[in-house]
Amino acid sequence: MSGRDESTNPFSLLADETRLGIVEAIGDRSGDGEYASLSYSTIQTALGEVDSGRLNYHLRQLEGRFVEHTDDGYRLLIPGIRVYQAVTSGQLAADRPTVPPTEIDSPCGDCGDPLFVSYEEGRVFVRCPTCDVTYHRYPLSPSAFDPGDAASLADAGLTVAFADLRSMLAGVCPYCSGVVECTLSADDRGDLGLEGPETFAHLTCSTCGWFNHPQATMATYLHHTTAVFYERHGRAAPHSRLTVEGEWSETVRSTDPWRVEVRVTLDGDTLRHVVDENLDVVEWEVDGWGTTRQRPAKHGRRAVTLDRTASTASGESPFSLLADETRLGIVEAIGDRSGDGEYASLSYSEVRAALDGVDTGNLNYHLRKLRGRFVERTDDGYRLLIPGIRMYQAVASGQFAGDRPTVPPTEVDSRCEGCEEPVQVAYEDGRFFVRCPTCEVTQIRYPLSPNAVDPTDVDGLVSVAMTKIHLDLRSMLDGLCPYCSGAVHHDVSTADRGDLGLDERDAFAHLTCSTCGWFNHPAVEMVAFHHHATEQFYEERGRPGHYTRPNVDGELEVTVESEDPWRIEVRVTLDGDTLRHVVDGDLDVVEWEVVD
Ligand SMILES: [Zn+2]
Ligand SMILES: [Zn+2]
Ligand SMILES: [Zn+2]
Ligand SMILES: [Zn+2]
Repeated sequence: MSGRDESTNPFSLLADETRLGIVEAIGDRSGDGEYASLSYSTIQTALGEVDSGRLNYHLRQLEGRFVEHTDDGYRLLIPGIRVYQAVTSGQLAADRPTVPPTEIDSPCGDCGDPLFVSYEEGRVFVRCPTCDVTYHRYPLSPSAFDPGDAASLADAGLTVAFADLRSMLAGVCPYCSGVVECTLSADDRGDLGLEGPETFAHLTCSTCGWFNHPQATMATYLHHTTAVFYERHGRAAPHSRLTVEGEWSETVRSTDPWRVEVRVTLDGDTLRHVVDENLDVVEWEVDGWGTTRQRPAKHGRRAVTLDRTASTASGESPFSLLADETRLGIVEAIGDRSGDGEYASLSYSEVRAALDGVDTGNLNYHLRKLRGRFVERTDDGYRLLIPGIRMYQAVASGQFAGDRPTVPPTEVDSRCEGCEEPVQVAYEDGRFFVRCPTCEVTQIRYPLSPNAVDPTDVDGLVSVAMTKIHLDLRSMLDGLCPYCSGAVHHDVSTADRGDLGLDERDAFAHLTCSTCGWFNHPAVEMVAFHHHATEQFYEERGRPGHYTRPNVDGELEVTVESEDPWRIEVRVTLDGDTLRHVVDGDLDVVEWEVVD
């Protein structure tokens, strides 16, 4: 980070009550599937009739970074939305809940005794007291679970950890969209109850320092073949269970280049994966796969309900709490030192030095304000709590050199479904676009952090944008907001989307986060499109990673079989074979099969 120059340092840029107030005012009016545009006078009123000269000045400072001015008024850019989301999730931490160790209905894989789940200091823990082993320890936002329901806590911990891992393995930081780097090493982790060294990945975000150290085997939990393999044996996928069924083993085949073989055996059948240095599955095979396709095991959807407005009633608003240069400076100083797989703890004198020797009375006062909400004091010094980390990541998402990157409309090697002409992609106003200039239709319009964009690499832009769309949708369909971990409400409607030139589509999903208002309205066939069976169907027909392309081969047919209850049939035909899905009103795939 480059000093405390307002023009380049987003922390200084935001360290003002009027500026954070503008972000808060626009964010608060968003929701119900829309991010709001506010007129100048609405903002002025929301800020208590702040004087025009002052408001103009602060709006100018925010424009292009956190806020943009359109014909409809002022609206938040992606970094502005991320700051709003981070602060909203911190709001709930005013009285951060604690869940004491509670027995859950999941046996320890080793000894068979029940596992215990707890929530302490912003982290979820899953332990076996008999074996004295911690199986799962992961930072979790308080908006992700109901403190009165230990099962929802265990579920949310697992869902968030695997959603994050899926994103990191795809090379995209789940929190700031920065680039994730991966290295492998053989580690001894007796603390996890592992005998002897196993292969671990070190995944680190190059922008915000978020990190994860999963075992190599966990990457294969998330592979589409594993989901299909478990389904065919009538078992829930391993990433959805604390106690994983099957016999798992790993063998390091080589370390230069890395090739790790992972095998899992269920009912005498073995699925074998080989992963490379990025934990990408480069090879897989299975013995004993028959031709019958089974109905997938259905697992429960989280149903935590939170009132977006409830938390604003008590305590000081986090916006005013953070609207101070010293306070954002403390968050920045601790965040900047973190990285290389660790979040730092800074001593009092280190914090003070980072703030150019601010006087101690002043520093003590501001540290006291932040403690318990954004920062905590441990024996090792001051470190960020989860809302502090999220705030750091959100502000860092507005951190980029020079002007906001733009990619002008550029033709790519992908053809429009309607007219067969090549489509164009672009990155403008913090959004990724796919358009057919011949049909004058916008096929895709999706907000994407500038951290994810290298304007000189258009193919890379398409791949990262499509991957982000895929990851966000998977997370929303799992009931979890990809940005604030809030609970996602879902609904199905037949309201047309003529604005996108999509009036021929039959049914749309409405997915909305109950905490931060983030939303997505995909056509219902997208539920089938992003399902693991579709991934395998395309891969087996020579088109791996189908969801990373703006337009894919195959004939699509959607039929609304019934509206009460919802049953929507989706068929895709490729090379003479048809994959058939049925999606219900919960947006779950309730049936799928390959029809020859
Ligand atoms: Zn045990
Ligand atoms: Zn990051
Ligand atoms: Zn076209
Ligand atoms: Zn959210």
